[in-house]
Amino acid sequence: MKFADVVLPLPLDGLFTYSIPDNIINSVEIGYRVIVPFGARKYYTAIIVSIHENKPNNYEVKPIDSVIDTFPLINFQQLKLWRWIASYYMCSIGEVYNAAVPARLKMESETFISLTHDKSTEANLTTIEQNIILFLDKKNNQKISDISKELKVKDILPYTHSLSFKGLVTIEDNVVERYKPKVETFVKLNTSLQDVERVIGSAQKQLELYRILVDEFNNSGKDSILRKDITKRTGCSSSVLAGLIAKNVLIEFQEEISRINQNFNFSRKAYPLSQYQKKAYDNINKVFENKNVCLLHGVTSSGKTEIYIHLILEQIKKGKQVLFLVPEIALTTQLTMRLQAVFGKDLGVYHSRINDNERAEIWLKMQSETPFKIVIGVRSSIFLPFKNLGLVIVDEEHEPGYKQMDPSPRYHARDTSIVIAHNFGAKVLLGSATPAIETYHNTEIGKYGIVSLSQRYADIEMPNIILENTKELRRKKIMKSLLTPLMIDEISTALENNKQIILFRNRRGFAPVLECKFCGWTPKCKNCDVALTYHKYQNQLKCHYCNATYRVVHQCPSCNENSVEQLGMGTEMLQDEVNRLFPDAVVERMDMDTTRGRNNYEEIIYNFQEGHTDILVGTQMLSKGLDFENVAIVGIVAADGLLNHPDFRSHERGFQLMMQTAGRAGRKGEQGKVIIQAADPEISLFAYLQANDYLSFYRLQMSERKFFNYPPYTKLITITFRHRYENIVDKGSAHFANLLKQSLGDMVLGPNKPVISYIKRYHIREILLKLDSSIHHVRVRDLISSVTKEFRGIDNFRYINIQYDVDPV
Ligand code: ADP
Ligand code: ZN
Ligand code: ZN
Repeated sequence: MKFADVVLPLPLDGLFTYSIPDNIINSVEIGYRVIVPFGARKYYTAIIVSIHENKPNNYEVKPIDSVIDTFPLINFQQLKLWRWIASYYMCSIGEVYNAAVPARLKMESETFISLTHDKSTEANLTTIEQNIILFLDKKNNQKISDISKELKVKDILPYTHSLSFKGLVTIEDNVVERYKPKVETFVKLNTSLQDVERVIGSAQKQLELYRILVDEFNNSGKDSILRKDITKRTGCSSSVLAGLIAKNVLIEFQEEISRINQNFNFSRKAYPLSQYQKKAYDNINKVFENKNVCLLHGVTSSGKTEIYIHLILEQIKKGKQVLFLVPEIALTTQLTMRLQAVFGKDLGVYHSRINDNERAEIWLKMQSETPFKIVIGVRSSIFLPFKNLGLVIVDEEHEPGYKQMDPSPRYHARDTSIVIAHNFGAKVLLGSATPAIETYHNTEIGKYGIVSLSQRYADIEMPNIILENTKELRRKKIMKSLLTPLMIDEISTALENNKQIILFRNRRGFAPVLECKFCGWTPKCKNCDVALTYHKYQNQLKCHYCNATYRVVHQCPSCNENSVEQLGMGTEMLQDEVNRLFPDAVVERMDMDTTRGRNNYEEIIYNFQEGHTDILVGTQMLSKGLDFENVAIVGIVAADGLLNHPDFRSHERGFQLMMQTAGRAGRKGEQGKVIIQAADPEISLFAYLQANDYLSFYRLQMSERKFFNYPPYTKLITITFRHRYENIVDKGSAHFANLLKQSLGDMVLGPNKPVISYIKRYHIREILLKLDSSIHHVRVRDLISSVTKEFRGIDNFRYINIQYDVDPV
């Protein structure tokens, strides 16, 4: 008897063993997907990670139900990676599986209902029951979710159960294949038919259509056409088309087609590199001779992307694959277009806005004979089945978007990609104008190589950064708007010269806080301990933590005065103000509220790129990597707000954000201007920003990190506890901290109440581990898991939710 250890797509520790029935023993291998029963009545898609003959003796082994694959969906490299992630980031391998594999390639069981008789003769049925019978009579054996959708009845189970009780239907759980290839109907000419025009006879419209199609085929060189395209393109009615098919002049057939949009042509060659770019390019290759990771520290608009393009071409020439990581989807639009122009069909795009089926197809294509040579994608693309990876490029490597926050696995795609590259013997290029402090530190200690590029492409000067002291300007009553007089002047001039403007404010909504001016009452979320944000366009109050919405209040429920005021300013208010100040300008806003749909980003970016929009107002989404030619002014409003988070990284983040946002100005032609409005522009961070002096900023940060014992001087792990009852989470987290302190002493901090300590009706506490180099990561991990086991044994604490975050960002 043989057994298989499998991974289930569930947040459960460890592997599960199933027996392999004799009839499939020759058709399973490591990496294959199999269907296995788990729990009372559920089936899951599991992945085989080992096959052996050791019968587990402490429980009854169930057999594998069936095999899905004929080749491994997961290769050895990937399994190795999954194991590494599970162990380093302290999660289960099932959670890694879940994050890694597109949903469509993981099947689950579904409940199916089918009729037991052809027609029901039972009279005593409710309308809904009758409708179910009628529906099944048309098409038997339907998924319960489909029946519910069709009949628009949410809770359909009581009805199907009643029908089952009466013996009219059967209820069964089946596994459904969720990924389905897309099939379309095509039409071609029946070339063996003689004397076609005589066959068509006197039907004039059919004859016309026939001639159009003959022309079309002759011109295009193709021999078939999508059926639905015919009516669309020729305007002929579908009955005319059906007539030709009935006469056997045209033949209809079905064919599987790809969902991946591949209508791109190679439209340009890579640009020749400038002298500075060439030098950087050569230096990168020199670094790669004896280092696996290289940082390209290049100021904004220095032409990093063109250097990447040349490096990618070199890899493709060598027959290797390249992974091009971007921190978030907002960035992919423009970059994808730039890369598509050079790499055409060789480029695959992988992110959350492409649908599940497409993602499954990209995965399968990566395993085919003709995989993509280059993939551009967000963090989850590190899980794709590469065959022959030669280079990983991590663009904007400092971005926190590379870290997955929720759910587990809380992995960092940049750091993980270094592990992947190592497994493949590939190289990693990290690119940024404002490297993460840890990354720069790694170059200083020689772990990574570094290549710097301090010239903008075409010798354009770095933008001129002007600081505006809003506290001072308000005190002197010079500033009466949300924007300073200088900002207003500069924007007006830019508009007169047909230039564009970007205005950055890192809070969405209209007013971040409402407050009663008499008694200080503030509307708060019922589920979270946070103030609600007023959204004017949707006329709602919103919680940015749980997305709950509330009606807008004007009257204070505490003192009954009509005295509720708006405090602070979000992007909506800024947009309103800009509209008021510049009524003739076209203003668009880009933030989480305006970019929910699949194509919203593209539209907003396209409109701005094409000059349809004059002023773009938005959050950090517009700070990153975007390349617009005509931006003369970048305004940053309420810059202090970026620096006031109680987090040791808040200055690093603020500096990066402002530097990046500033980098959008003056990328072609003239030098751009950046105007920063801050209440306290005296702090040194602003001076370094103005001088474009990353290095001094880095040194300042490093001295603070050293003083306060933060990374890169220590390694951090946060442990978060959540429970409905505050006293339980309080006691539990304190107990956990004590257990850890027995071995780790002062390296254990807390438990603390985080700034927002109540979210979605859960009370939250945190323990922070600041680990110095005296203790090895593996030991800490083992310690935490044994402490967790001990902790779980205590009755009161069993249901406290515990999360680990290794290297939090
Ligand atoms: P970065 O990624 O460093 O911010 P980009 O690669 O976006 O900079 O380059 C800035 C601008 O300069 C882009 O519009 C790009 O097309 C242009 N550019 C960069 N290098 C070249 C080159 N070698 N030839 C022509 N145009 C270039
Ligand atoms: Zn909430
Ligand atoms: Zn009040």
